[in-house]
Amino acid sequence: MRQPLVAGNWKMNGSLASVRELLAGIKAGIGDIKKCEVAVCPPYVFIPVAQEALSGSSIPWGGQNLSTEVSGAFTGEVAGSMLTDFGCTYVIVGHSERRTLYGEDDAVVADKHAVAREAGLKPIFCIGETLEERESGITEEVVARQVDAVINASGVESLGDGVIAYEPVWAIGTGKTATPEQAQDVHAFIRERIAGHSASVAENVRILYGGSMKPGNAAELMEKPDIDGGLIGGAALKAEDFLGICKAADDSV
Ligand code: PEP
Repeated sequence: MRQPLVAGNWKMNGSLASVRELLAGIKAGIGDIKKCEVAVCPPYVFIPVAQEALSGSSIPWGGQNLSTEVSGAFTGEVAGSMLTDFGCTYVIVGHSERRTLYGEDDAVVADKHAVAREAGLKPIFCIGETLEERESGITEEVVARQVDAVINASGVESLGDGVIAYEPVWAIGTGKTATPEQAQDVHAFIRERIAGHSASVAENVRILYGGSMKPGNAAELMEKPDIDGGLIGGAALKAEDFLGICKAADDSV
């Protein structure tokens, strides 16, 4: 039985005041969420604020990115050890915005996945196809390539140290959600691909769906057998909406 996880990816949003308010709102409603793990990934500078608000609660926090390097002259970069210093449990790697806007290819993502684990962080490893790739019928080829990059670099067991987020790029921030059937098909494919290397890792690894998930569509996605939670962008910025998705995940167990 895989425990669902709903993680908020706040991206580059918020102010000190709004982040404090959002954290307080999530904390106030978390008592209703019994079985689903709930996590937040604020921008780097707000991580100490999350740490202060969430220490002692059931809510872990994480970064949205990390450097491939451990330390040194890399202006503007943040190392995995710095995230663990501030109590982070998770770190997102390979988000499609990093891949498309900042040129992170499969090799860089595999490197970040490895560096995150070495620092003691659980990677939230994002994969997914663009609209053009889906329309060309190569969705499975793309996600297989992305998953294989990590398996080839670090071994299949490395996937068991974190979670995978299947995020069709055409569904991120667009209001277009994959249908539960479309998402389930890809999630099942990913799990099968992993099972080709290790049945136990495949059985235990949590595969989250991400892409315009909202309280109104979360329940039908979460009820699919291979969808183990969500990585949430826009809807994670309002405590009420985020908690609505967490509740749907909670009720799916
Ligand atoms: C994301 O960026 O990880 C995401 C899923 O965004 P949104 O929920 O806004 O589509």
